Amino acid sequence: MTSWTSPDACAARLRGERRPISERLWEKVAIGAPDECWLWQAAVDSGGYGHIDEGTGRLRKAHRIAYALTRGDPGELHVLHRCDTRRCCNPAHLFLGTHDDNMRDRQEKGRTRIPPARRGEANPAARLDEFDVLAIRTLRSCGASLRGLAAAFAISVANARLIVSGRTWKHVLGVNHSNPERPERPVKERS
Ligand SMILES: [Zn+2]
Repeated sequence: MTSWTSPDACAARLRGERRPISERLWEKVAIGAPDECWLWQAAVDSGGYGHIDEGTGRLRKAHRIAYALTRGDPGELHVLHRCDTRRCCNPAHLFLGTHDDNMRDRQEKGRTRIPPARRGEANPAARLDEFDVLAIRTLRSCGASLRGLAAAFAISVANARLIVSGRTWKHVLGVNHSNPERPERPVKERS
């Protein structure tokens, strides 16, 4: 893996090459526990959403890129926050909706706050699902450490290593760009 401080990366930077957005995005996100809000740490737009240069000088909403990188291209749909925190880039807090859904969501959140917690991640024995595995592999490919991933997903370093090496969760291949309308994760039953 090429780290940002490697000779290759420094040489690329000196040549004026911009690194892919998949690498740059997660560096600016305070990645926390799976149920926490992962707040964008860099510039925000006038609406309070994190924004990032997509590489062409055009600014894109950071949470939308976070969704696209982990769950697939949202296409024409809006990427909404179930946590109502505009700087949040935690893919688990994001869901797809239409413009009308977006308006309705804002109205409903004005009246009642929807709790984001749906799973028992605070529990060290919490189980992962396919989405977690995709996120772990994506974050690892963007330079996240095994130790950091283990802490963020409440798993052991050894387990994180098995996941990123593909020795476990073999049926989950990688980032799913083929099905942008993938349904939301089912709610896990808690024991
Ligand atoms: Zn959030």
